[in-house]
Amino acid sequence: MTDEKQTPEEHEDVSLYQKLADRAAEILRDGRKTLDEALKKAGEEVTAGGEYTRERAEKVSTYLRRDLTGVGKKSQQARDAVINAVEPHRVAAGVQSGLAKLLTTAADVLNELAGKSEQVLEFKTGEVTSPGTLTCKDCGKEMHFKSTVKIPPCPSCHKTLFRKSY
Ligand SMILES: [Zn+2]
Repeated sequence: MTDEKQTPEEHEDVSLYQKLADRAAEILRDGRKTLDEALKKAGEEVTAGGEYTRERAEKVSTYLRRDLTGVGKKSQQARDAVINAVEPHRVAAGVQSGLAKLLTTAADVLNELAGKSEQVLEFKTGEVTSPGTLTCKDCGKEMHFKSTVKIPPCPSCHKTLFRKSY
């Protein structure tokens, strides 16, 4: 149940999440695209090589967008958590992060969208998300993650719906 091992497919989703975020950040850094356009273009690029299917890229892109949405209205701490998840090498090197710009843009673009629907911020087992704390909606058990992860079932009651905080 609480098996820590990841299947190849799960690992692939986490890698894809990081690739999409990294690429979207680079596209945004050029300054000619909106967040939506950058995410779309990043998705097209990662599927172009045939390594990932379009369906998978779109699904994982949804997870990334949700994390950005959640972070958009949250604190610097939340931003740092996401930045560290996606670009740990840049954080370690102290390099100006493209993702920092992505998150700043996301904050502006997605604030109203985030306020619109709590459902956007409901997290389910099997989805990929950035570091943070997931709280089981059923039993209140908390899981703390320090890296990007594919969400497991609740270790306590085995349910699959969570709230997220940072
Ligand atoms: Zn639970």
